Amino acid sequence: MFYIVIFILGLVFGSFYTVVGERLPKKESIIKPASHCPHCLKKLSWYELIPVFSYIFLRGKCHHCGKKIPLMYLIMELLCGILFLLSYIIFGISFEFFGLLIISSLLIIIWVSDFKYNIILDSPLIISAILYIVLELIYKDIKTVILSVCFGTTMFVILFLIKVLGDLIFKKESLGGGDIKLGFVMGLILTPRVSLIALILASILALIYVFIAGIKKEKEIPYGPFLLVAFYVCFIFKDIILEILNHGF
Ligand SMILES: [Zn+2]
Repeated sequence: MFYIVIFILGLVFGSFYTVVGERLPKKESIIKPASHCPHCLKKLSWYELIPVFSYIFLRGKCHHCGKKIPLMYLIMELLCGILFLLSYIIFGISFEFFGLLIISSLLIIIWVSDFKYNIILDSPLIISAILYIVLELIYKDIKTVILSVCFGTTMFVILFLIKVLGDLIFKKESLGGGDIKLGFVMGLILTPRVSLIALILASILALIYVFIAGIKKEKEIPYGPFLLVAFYVCFIFKDIILEILNHGF
């Protein structure tokens, strides 16, 4: 029963995060105007706003103008539901569970904003960092918080140096400002060493994506979405990764 509740919560939050990732980069309010059809701009009624079910019920079409509703909404809602559910299955209600929910939320927002507009928004990063610090204050102590903030700062500095070097070598922007700020949140939550593993994993994922999607070299591919997948995975295996880094195989 609780599994269903968590999954539905994930769908609802996923729906909200999609709106955030979709509207904030365009400097639109996330509350006004109310959700509307992207084609005919008609306001949606309550039965058109239920995540997933509305999409299936309306067969992916707007009730008023009959044009297609972007599949992205359905995919992002489902993905968020699955990520929330996975977090619960793996950790139960615990510190790690809430930590993974924060990462899942960031993942959905950044997937939408970075893939669509090549932007990693500041506000979700700031909110995630604050929520995680509050979480540590509740479950752990102030010492842990101070250490985490130092970790975040270290990671921020490392990524900044990588960017400066990268810009010099490649003579163009190598890392975006958003990626560096995201580095702070990763260092804060993962520690710098696990974050570096996540960076490597993200690069591999990005390369696979470029290879499969057959993207030409000139086209800029967003790094944020891959960083977030690596972030999610590395958080789950954080203790195992640290163990291996400390003692080897
Ligand atoms: Zn319409």
